[in-house]
Amino acid sequence: MRGRFISPLEIPMPSTVGSTPRIALYPGSFDGLTFGHLDLIKRGCKLFDRLVVGVAANSRKNPWFTAEERMEHIHLCTAGIPNIEIIQIEGLTVKAAVDHGAQFILRGLRAVSDFDFEFQLAIMNHEVMPNVETIFLATSPEYIFLSSSMVKEVWSLGADVSRFIPQPVLEAFERRRAAGA
Ligand code: ADP
Repeated sequence: MRGRFISPLEIPMPSTVGSTPRIALYPGSFDGLTFGHLDLIKRGCKLFDRLVVGVAANSRKNPWFTAEERMEHIHLCTAGIPNIEIIQIEGLTVKAAVDHGAQFILRGLRAVSDFDFEFQLAIMNHEVMPNVETIFLATSPEYIFLSSSMVKEVWSLGADVSRFIPQPVLEAFERRRAAGA
């Protein structure tokens, strides 16, 4: 009997055949959560059984918001997504991945400028913890030039950034300005 063509859509995903759930850690500073971050979160939640968003506590980027505030921003903007967990990362990202049962690290790639750093990071993480694979998602085209640092810079100079960051984050920006920071 000739074999029937099986569409890739008919092949069951591992999670649906009772194997280990696929868990990814999406680490970052998220200091000024943008619609670019949220796009990656939503796409990651569709790809994996569980997405753990890891907020780096010790960011070298001189953050505007505490890790708790950044976690709260993500929490407010992802209400209704059932398979998301938000954690704080203190030390090594790969260790946080293993501690939370994640087999994958999810990162976003925007322009070529992201590539060199992300490539080095992925290779180093693989050296440290070979069982954890880094997965890259290309940015959605509308967010290709969107970064937290750029948004903070233009906001400081008086630009309207409501197209780039969700309302709870915009309100946090405004509170920060009202406090004279
Ligand atoms: P980090 O300080 O670790 O780079 P960021 O908060 O700047 O943290 O970014 C976290 C992750 O989100 C990174 O993988 C980054 O490439 C990705 N990212 C940030 N902005 C965008 C965007 N506009 N589109 C796609 N991915 C993005």
